[in-house]
Amino acid sequence: MLTPELKQFIRAMPKAEVHIHLEGSIAPETVLELARRNNRLDNLPAHDVDGLRRWYTFTDFSHFVTVYVAIMGMLQKPEDFALVVYEHGADMARQNIRYREVTFTPYLHLGWEQKGLTIPELLDGINEGRERARTEFGVEIRWVFDVPRNANFPDPASAENYNPEPSELTLEAALAGQPCGVVGFGLGGYEVNCPPEPFAHVFGPAKGAGLLSVPHAGETEGPASVRGALDHLGADRIGHGVRAIEDPALLEELKKRAVPLEINPTSNIALRVYPDYAAHPFRRLDELGLTVTVNSDDPPLFNTSLVQEYEVLAGHFGYDRAGLARIARNAYRVAGVENDVKTRLLAEFDAWVAANM
Ligand SMILES: [Zn+2]
Repeated sequence: MLTPELKQFIRAMPKAEVHIHLEGSIAPETVLELARRNNRLDNLPAHDVDGLRRWYTFTDFSHFVTVYVAIMGMLQKPEDFALVVYEHGADMARQNIRYREVTFTPYLHLGWEQKGLTIPELLDGINEGRERARTEFGVEIRWVFDVPRNANFPDPASAENYNPEPSELTLEAALAGQPCGVVGFGLGGYEVNCPPEPFAHVFGPAKGAGLLSVPHAGETEGPASVRGALDHLGADRIGHGVRAIEDPALLEELKKRAVPLEINPTSNIALRVYPDYAAHPFRRLDELGLTVTVNSDDPPLFNTSLVQEYEVLAGHFGYDRAGLARIARNAYRVAGVENDVKTRLLAEFDAWVAANM
């Protein structure tokens, strides 16, 4: 049960998060600021925060994509990226999130829409924001650069029709970004008709360069997508992965290979992967012995936050303090951050838990 004491515990606990999208977590206030800066107010259906918040509200996948694309179009110059990353840091401080692995989709800014930006300019923008956030709020941010799977399939009716260019551009950006905090290589978007297998040609080199393989799978498609991510992309973690619950042999495989899941309960319900929290397999996956983490995915678009996701664990899935702390610790454990920083963050977390349990 979500008591006031448990709420306070969740808020105060030093948290980490490994599945959240930069472009999907820009607050309506910041979208308005960017639209004014870039003379793009005409591209928004509302010019006040409340109106934008209503427009953000999830109705169906195609509306979600419309909103996402419009928000993405607000990011035009390196300083726009710096602003949204800095705001990320401010949000982390507000929720007491000490570490975030933020997914960023460079292809959307480099190739999909021609913004005249180069990879170094993009990296400069996001890292200026990251440095300011670290200095001002003491928070650690690392990056996952992900391939937007649907951009590689211009004709979604045919999986044969694979265009490698978006994948290759993403790999180039990720490798260039390694010195400034890129630790993972991902694959996002709508899985239907966009299976993982064709993407092996970029995941091999990404892993070879020391990046974690963290594709989305088992969200809008079932167990076959997760299996493809394991066997062909060498997945070190699975984004979502909840639908692995449909295949007992696959669950055994995930356990055997110790591949953690990045679970986003509220996102799954908004996207109708499950009708409600009662039907969501978070707790079952945990009890089966998989390493599970809880995350917020695209928080303003799903009207959530990491704090609220922990409240869901307590209020809907019955987790107590010890259970919440165990799940929270998993996020640090599976993070791609350098070992010395991970050791420090874990020591801080363990000390806090020891003093507050
Ligand atoms: Zn995601």
